[in-house]
This record gives sequence, C-alpha cells and structure tokens, in this order.
Amino acid sequence: MNSSRQLRRSATMSHTAFLLLLFVTLLQGFTLTAQRPAEGKPGTGTRRFRRSYSEYMEQNGGTPMDTIIAVNDYQGLFAVEGVSVREGDIAVSRHSEKSCFARSCLWSKSVDGHVYIAYTLSPLYSEEDKMKIKQGMELIERKTCVRYVPRTHQRDHLDIQPRSGCWSYVGANGGRQVLSLQTPECIGSAVVAHELMHALGFLHEQSRADRDNYVTILWSNIWKDRTRNFAKFKTNNMDMPYDYKSIMHFGKYAYSEDGNPTIVQKQNWNGKLGQSFGPSELDILKINKLYQCK
Ligand SMILES: [Zn+2]
Repeated sequence: MNSSRQLRRSATMSHTAFLLLLFVTLLQGFTLTAQRPAEGKPGTGTRRFRRSYSEYMEQNGGTPMDTIIAVNDYQGLFAVEGVSVREGDIAVSRHSEKSCFARSCLWSKSVDGHVYIAYTLSPLYSEEDKMKIKQGMELIERKTCVRYVPRTHQRDHLDIQPRSGCWSYVGANGGRQVLSLQTPECIGSAVVAHELMHALGFLHEQSRADRDNYVTILWSNIWKDRTRNFAKFKTNNMDMPYDYKSIMHFGKYAYSEDGNPTIVQKQNWNGKLGQSFGPSELDILKINKLYQCK
C-alpha cells in the first residue's frame, strides 16, 4: 500500500518535473527568440517580445494541442467555476441542461446560407490580442460558410474571455457560452481555430470511435492520471476519412510520462500527427459537411 503510494507519488513527481522542464525550456526558447533583435529590423524588439507563446510553439513544430496541454496542465486545470474540463480542453458544464459532449449541437443557419456566430471579446484583451483572435476566426471563415460577427442582440453567442487556460464547450449550448483564451498563451491563431472548432461541434480527432484502425495509443507512456484523456466516443464521422493532419488531433507526445510518444500512426510510427498552421483541408471539408455549406 505504502510502496504503491510512494510509486504513484514519485511517478507524479517525475511527470510534474518533466512537464515543468518542458514548459521552462519552451519558455526560455521563447524568451531568447523574443529578446533577440530581428536582423536588420531595429525597433521591432517590443513587438517580437509580445509574440505569443502559442505562436512560438506553432513556428517551432508544435501543434496547437501541444500548446493547449502545456498551458492547461501547467495551470492544473480540471475544474473552473462550475465547469469541468475533459480531454484537455473541452468544457462540460455541471449545471447545464443541454450537454452536447460527443454529440454536436449546431449553430443555426441563416436563409442566406451562412452560419453567423455572434461573439463578444472581453475588454481585458489588448487590441493586438483582439487582432490575433480575429485571425483565428478568419482561418475558419476562409473556405466555409461560417461567419463570426460581433454580437448585437443574438441570444446564442460566444463570450470570449481570458480566463485560466484555453478551453471551449462543444457545439452551441444555447445562450451565452464562455470560450476561454488565456492571454498571451492561447492567442495564437491555430489555438484559437482549435477552440472555435470545438465550439462548432467537433471533438478531438483521435477520440473517434474508429481511431484504433488508424493510430496506436501507447498506454504505458501516458502519465497515469491522464489516460482518461485518450477515451473514444461515439462520434459522428459523417463518412469522412480519419485525418492525421487535423488541427483537432493530439500531437505524438501528448501527456507523455517521460518524453516518449503516446500516440502514433498505425502504419508509420514516425509520421507526424496534428497541424501547426490552422485547419487542415479535411477539417475544412468536415465543417462544410456538418453545416451543409454550399
Ligand atoms: Zn481541444
């Protein structure tokens, strides 16, 4: 009993130490890059320093989900203000009558064929933050019929706030729903697009019911307290292929106990998982199919 508790404690400590080391290393890299003046571009130091952590991760090969896990786990984020967080960044309300987890609750479609999603941005955001959040919205809008519009009177809307961590509810929950983008960590456009895709109704790609045909989960490499984040759900895949490049896919090292891969492509263990720059082509196709964009 005692030894198993000790073991568990030491495993927890080693994971915490690993996570802390990863975070500090990334942060150091970020600070060093940020402080180094851009060659031939004097006076850009401050602007570069304001570059968000998630942008740093994205430009250095990390996926938005890597950023989200680092930020949320560093915050010890499991439950905040009546909200519990599952699968790393999916909010589930304990009090909501309507739960859309693993099912999708769609936003309504206008007669002109667009899906207008009303939003408010917290006054706590800087102008630069707001600009970056809008860039994330544009990544979704570019090839779909979804349009993000500042709220005027709409009952259903996204209330985007810099709370603790990066998280969103799945689909439209009815009325006001918070989507948290902690600043500056969660403000990179790919992280914003990832959370907006949850709000559109999508879960993580590797939680598809058929995922075991495509990826192998290396359970023994996952930090024990986080194995529940690798659950499968009865997802509606809309007859769309599995997408290794989805912006909604966990990265290869998600929740790693000791730096070894936790999830790999079934046929190609060296293959990349996830997406650094925004929704993949299949992500866009899936949005268009779910919302029947013409
Ligand atoms: Zn997510």
